Amino acid sequence: MSELELVSVTKTYGDIIAVNNIDHKFVSGTYSCLLGPSGCGKSSTLRMIAGHEIVTEGEITLGGTNITSLPPASRGTAMMFQNYALFPHLSVVDNVAFSQKMQGIGKDARRSRAMELLELVHMEEYADRIPDQLSGGQQQRVALARSLITEPSILLLDEPLSALDPFLRIKMRLELKKLQRQLGISFIHVTHSQDEALALADDIIVMNNAVIEQSGPPKEVFNEPRSEFVAKFIGGHNVVHTDQGKIAVRTDRIDVKKRKTKKTVSATVRDVEFLGSTINIALSSDEKDELVAAIPDSVFFNQPVEIGDTVFLDWKTEDAHLLAE
Ligand code: ADP
Ligand code: MG
Repeated sequence: MSELELVSVTKTYGDIIAVNNIDHKFVSGTYSCLLGPSGCGKSSTLRMIAGHEIVTEGEITLGGTNITSLPPASRGTAMMFQNYALFPHLSVVDNVAFSQKMQGIGKDARRSRAMELLELVHMEEYADRIPDQLSGGQQQRVALARSLITEPSILLLDEPLSALDPFLRIKMRLELKKLQRQLGISFIHVTHSQDEALALADDIIVMNNAVIEQSGPPKEVFNEPRSEFVAKFIGGHNVVHTDQGKIAVRTDRIDVKKRKTKKTVSATVRDVEFLGSTINIALSSDEKDELVAAIPDSVFFNQPVEIGDTVFLDWKTEDAHLLAE
């Protein structure tokens, strides 16, 4: 199969180290998300995989073949660009068929293949329009069909949903996942959205400052963040300073009590936010940690707290994860 492996891959632009000696294996047929804040090196990593950027040091192999220096079209990968990059003067079907035209494939053959791909992304009715006559979401489907016509074993997507409105973003997210399952090829999707990565990925690769901080299935990365950065970036966590070091505790795993028990952290209520089914209580601990407790509404209204109250925080031992320094 076509496992993709990055071996000690580095990318520098002059003095800037965009990607610093990273190693990763992308299991074939999986949906992977490269997740991290702006500037952490996600796009550089993706572009090196695509062959649009020269690898400064290290190696990229696909199915055991060294592809580090191969041109983009000879790698078995395809890239869908953020701005879709459709040809404005070509019809939808001709946009999709373009790479096959370049390969010298006959008009009927390439059009019928392009129509198959347009069906796959539910755009067959729009085959004769030009890109200007389509919405952003529709243009994206065409771009998707165009990148899939080369039958890549890996599809690379750089922030593919960021230009869409929130409603469409969630709809397309489901469709991308469905498409990946249907095709059985690998998708590598760059995003800075935790929600997107958690919802889509079989594997999340969290990047920060040009390195991989942690990788693994969403459930593992979310429940067992290894570092303070991952705990904070993935969201839904508190980082609490204790006598034994820094720990991460999920916001929905913190109990807020009015009375002190044995093992508790005392804190002051800073804010109470009603979110419907949960109430978010913002707290400052005596150790100066800014914390959030997400409490089910029924529990909260049973024993409400107010801004300024002193409270005591507790959690189950198994819900606390020691973080690396
Ligand atoms: P991300 O996609 O995570 O936002 P990038 O891979 O685009 O991050 O960028 C990583 C770092 O490399 C950033 O500091 C960015 O400014 C720098 N960088 C990216 N592309 C170039 C380039 N073509 N020339 C110089 N610096 C670049
Ligand atoms: Mg980027």
